[in-house]
Amino acid sequence: MNPVIDKPLALPENLKWANRFAGLGPDFSTVLQPSPLPSPYWISRNAGLARELGLGEAWLESQAALEIFTGNKIAEGSEPVASVYSGHQFGQWAGQLGDGRAILLGDIQTPAGDIEIQLKGAGLTPYSRMGDGRAVLRSSIREYLCSEAMHGLGIATTRALSLTGSDAKVRREEIETAAVVTRTAPSFIRFGHFEHFSYTDQHAQLKTLADYVIDNFYPACRDKAQPYAALLEAVSERTAHLMAAWQAVGFCHGVMNTDNMSILGLTIDYGPFQFLDAFDPTHVCNHSDTQGRYAYNKQPNIAYWNLFCLGQALLPLMDNQEQALAALEPYKTIFPAALEARMRAKLGLPDAVPEDKVLIESTFKLLASNKVDYTIFWRRLCGFTPQSGHEPVRDLFFDRESFNAWALQYSERLAQVDPGLRADLMLKSNPKFVLRNHLGEQAIRAAKLKDFSGVNTLLTLLKAPFDEHPGHDSFADFPPDWATGIEISCSS
Ligand code: AMP
Ligand code: MG
Repeated sequence: MNPVIDKPLALPENLKWANRFAGLGPDFSTVLQPSPLPSPYWISRNAGLARELGLGEAWLESQAALEIFTGNKIAEGSEPVASVYSGHQFGQWAGQLGDGRAILLGDIQTPAGDIEIQLKGAGLTPYSRMGDGRAVLRSSIREYLCSEAMHGLGIATTRALSLTGSDAKVRREEIETAAVVTRTAPSFIRFGHFEHFSYTDQHAQLKTLADYVIDNFYPACRDKAQPYAALLEAVSERTAHLMAAWQAVGFCHGVMNTDNMSILGLTIDYGPFQFLDAFDPTHVCNHSDTQGRYAYNKQPNIAYWNLFCLGQALLPLMDNQEQALAALEPYKTIFPAALEARMRAKLGLPDAVPEDKVLIESTFKLLASNKVDYTIFWRRLCGFTPQSGHEPVRDLFFDRESFNAWALQYSERLAQVDPGLRADLMLKSNPKFVLRNHLGEQAIRAAKLKDFSGVNTLLTLLKAPFDEHPGHDSFADFPPDWATGIEISCSS
């Protein structure tokens, strides 16, 4: 079934579609139409992002927007495509994958630069393989909310503009209903796009893609002696910063396959992700990940492994292997430095001293041995003072002696810090609200009964996770006992 375009639907007048990625041609993507869903309805709209993009809040509330962002109508000037990519999945070469359920509508020039708009779950594409091209309500709510939660936390991510639903049935482990997330990003290009053209010996296309990425997103690389090695280094640098951000906030991605790694260093493809509840460095959030390849504490090394794959894919554009290896080298220093800087901010230490490394390490160790709730610990620590009895923080630990020893070490360090500066830094570095599994789950259960208020409440809280939001303390509380029983896997 193809969408019937009875009258062309347009974006607000100030906005025009460019179709930059589609313009690369048929080696890179396939022109196609999304498949309509019956009787779509809004689940949530992100008014703030609509404003940022210049779409406007009022337009986003229109019937035209509902049709366009469900894939039921094509906006005038948009040239929808699905792109081809390949990738390494769970450490193995998986061959050709591609946008199996993502359809790029094109890009628009916005006050925030050129932004691509993509539908996730809008039907079959030539890359759907065994899948149905659909996304279910559950996984779509998770992706929609987490994209904005990460943005609220100041972590690089694809964004989510809207979430629409339909009562159309979708078969997973059980029968669910369909939903479409409209996501935005400057580009959805993944490491896997490069791997695809490299492994299939399409080196001219590999170069075209690399030039496209350099010209549009990494222009400074063009002036370097070896632009493609410079690209690899720049991507490594962004990825190192992304990993530091994930580790500091306690985020587990769950499926760090190379096809889920953004060339722009964005968090992309929210599937079985989880924010840590109790701090367990070996935590594996994806129930399909039986080997624990993507455990929380392995993420930084996996990112490096993935960058290595990207380097290998870019080799045909370089003079020798040493160039690629040299470009990857800075990751090893940038990641730990970036993580240390983030942890220092969480501890409220505006300036670095050499002893901070030891303090940070001992903090991680103490949290792990006491399995302390990660988010609550940091938020409560904002109120810790060397003079007070620091009960609210101490209460989180069963091993009080170890806590007391740590508190002494921390208090000594705090003697060198201005208390006002410290409080300010900590309250902006330690969120009160993160998208814990059980919070998502509660919103999903209500949404299944057509009550979307939970999704929208969470959106409001998570967009400003460092604010107090009086009256919403229960969303910042410990997870209930049933939270440990939530199983999140790849199938969504
Ligand atoms: P993911 O693990 O979600 O990143 O997906 C890996 C690959 O499987 C990508 O190429 C997706 O497009 C594809 N895929 C996942 N789910 C579906 C689906 N329901 N229909 C079609 N393709 C899918
Ligand atoms: Mg993916």
